[in-house]
Amino acid sequence: MKEGQALEGIPGLMTLRDGRCVYNPRPRIADMDTIPFPTYEEFDRTHYLGDALILEWSRGCIGSCTYCKGKEIAGDYRTRSARHIFDELKYHVEVNGYRNFTVCDPLINGAPEVLEELCDKIIASGYSIRFNGEGIPMPTMTSGLLQKMKAAGCWNCSGAWSVGRTWCSRK
Ligand code: SF4
Repeated sequence: MKEGQALEGIPGLMTLRDGRCVYNPRPRIADMDTIPFPTYEEFDRTHYLGDALILEWSRGCIGSCTYCKGKEIAGDYRTRSARHIFDELKYHVEVNGYRNFTVCDPLINGAPEVLEELCDKIIASGYSIRFNGEGIPMPTMTSGLLQKMKAAGCWNCSGAWSVGRTWCSRK
């Protein structure tokens, strides 16, 4: 991208044309493991309050709530692998010294098997970390998985739990 170059036409960008927002769509990235995670090497973190690092483990949602724009914007659910997510956690624990994380996804339990594998990796690592995110109620969220999440450091998984019972409709 060169200075002075028009922004219109760049895939994934929304621009203003004649006072109206125009969106130029781009294909969604299906394999989330191909996206490198941010390392914040040249980022001055002292400008920011709070001690929790924001992470993205997945995009899209398995739900189709009528009132929600999330699905329209982010599309169908795609998740990173447990290994890829853990590699990022490891980096931020060991290199950046973070112990507290907030997952910004619409839900952290869209693929319970990935969540469980990730919890296993965190528990096996011995890292003393905390993380939170939003989730939706599903039969696959067994008490065993919830206990594993707690053991891995999950202190809060709320958000859509309450509305989900009423509104969320899975495909
Ligand atoms: S579960 Fe949440 S993010 Fe997913 S469609 Fe419903 S409201 Fe939107």
